[in-house]
Amino acid sequence: MIIIDEEHDASFKQQDGFKYHCRSLALYRAHQAGIPVVLGSATPSLESLYNAEQGKFSYLQLQKRAGNSQLPTTHLLDLNRCQSQASLGQPLIDEMAKQINNGQQVMLFINRRGFAPVLMCEECHWLTECSRCSSFTTYHKGSNLLICHHCGFQHPTLHQCLGCGSTRMTPVGVGTEQIETNLATLFPNVDVVRLDRDSTSKKGEFDNKLNQINSGKPMIIVGTQMIAKGHHFPNVSLVGIVDVDGALFSSDFRAAEKLSQLVVQVAGRAGRGSVKGQVWLQTKFPEHPVIQDLVNNEYKDFAKFALSERKMLNLPPYSHHIVIRAETTVPNLGLEWLSNLSNYLHDYEGLLMLGPTPAPMTRKAGKFRHMLTIQSQSRPYLHKLVNWLLENLDTIQKDNRIRWSVDVDPIDLS
Ligand SMILES: [Zn+2]
Ligand SMILES: [Zn+2]
Repeated sequence: MIIIDEEHDASFKQQDGFKYHCRSLALYRAHQAGIPVVLGSATPSLESLYNAEQGKFSYLQLQKRAGNSQLPTTHLLDLNRCQSQASLGQPLIDEMAKQINNGQQVMLFINRRGFAPVLMCEECHWLTECSRCSSFTTYHKGSNLLICHHCGFQHPTLHQCLGCGSTRMTPVGVGTEQIETNLATLFPNVDVVRLDRDSTSKKGEFDNKLNQINSGKPMIIVGTQMIAKGHHFPNVSLVGIVDVDGALFSSDFRAAEKLSQLVVQVAGRAGRGSVKGQVWLQTKFPEHPVIQDLVNNEYKDFAKFALSERKMLNLPPYSHHIVIRAETTVPNLGLEWLSNLSNYLHDYEGLLMLGPTPAPMTRKAGKFRHMLTIQSQSRPYLHKLVNWLLENLDTIQKDNRIRWSVDVDPIDLS
């Protein structure tokens, strides 16, 4: 048989070069070989849940949590109604101190590496932007570099604003590195271990840190999604999720699904030992329905609501998408090129053209990026279209200045 563990994980989708989804490939191979596939997850993708609902997959449920551990309790921390220090609400800081005094470990999750997302000029509000992308460079204090997480571009930290020449540059927002620094002030006698791509890039570093955590000593663990996956840390009794708000207002219709999966995965790190775990969610939007679901309900309730919403809006899995992307160094060429294609396909029945639009990150590594999403109820029909495009697009719309690609079932819409 083939087993796909954590089947919802977006990293199963190969985005560069030959684009494919590992889950789809596994289903196809298993079908060819006549063997079963097991898709495992505590937070199944809405696609797989839909397939189970449709009777295409059979649905097996684990009724008990592994071992004797209990589900953690979830607390909502409304950041509008409390003092905060160093991006942490005071009630969370107090609870952290309590858990550490009881000999427990505390884990803080933040989905951003580095010290701060950007440096801002206090005089003219100029922000450190990447010169090759429509994005900002992240300030890494340890290495004293500004690094673009999208194209890898880096240069030494600026001490002077490029807009007005002022030297008053301050970090805005928060990343793992900054939390680590602030914790040293808030908890001077407690060990802090940071787990992210920057702090574990050297050989053996990751294992060293895991050993440190597994010693069981009271400590604070700070990390990115790297800490969300699979690790068993029995002494962690409290998990704090520092920043969930970014995902609530995303242009990606899957953002709420990704957030819910992440929160459940991170929460799964709490209370795996004998002490009942707690999860704290910090937010400025406590009334948001996704936040309410995360706190009051289970993932399956969220999934049910999210599926009904997708159905109403006719979004995947109730329809199918392909995205045609165009990249070029000429500013509006990609948009024109995709508009022509959209017009060409407009008269075909059963296809809905969404766009073309600039990609959310319109400029990346010096290239302008545009996208055309094509939606259809019929998957076979869409597949036929893809085959036809791959064979003929360069003939009907030849332009050497454009690099185009087709992505079936797109997940990353950046
Ligand atoms: Zn960049
Ligand atoms: Zn300035």
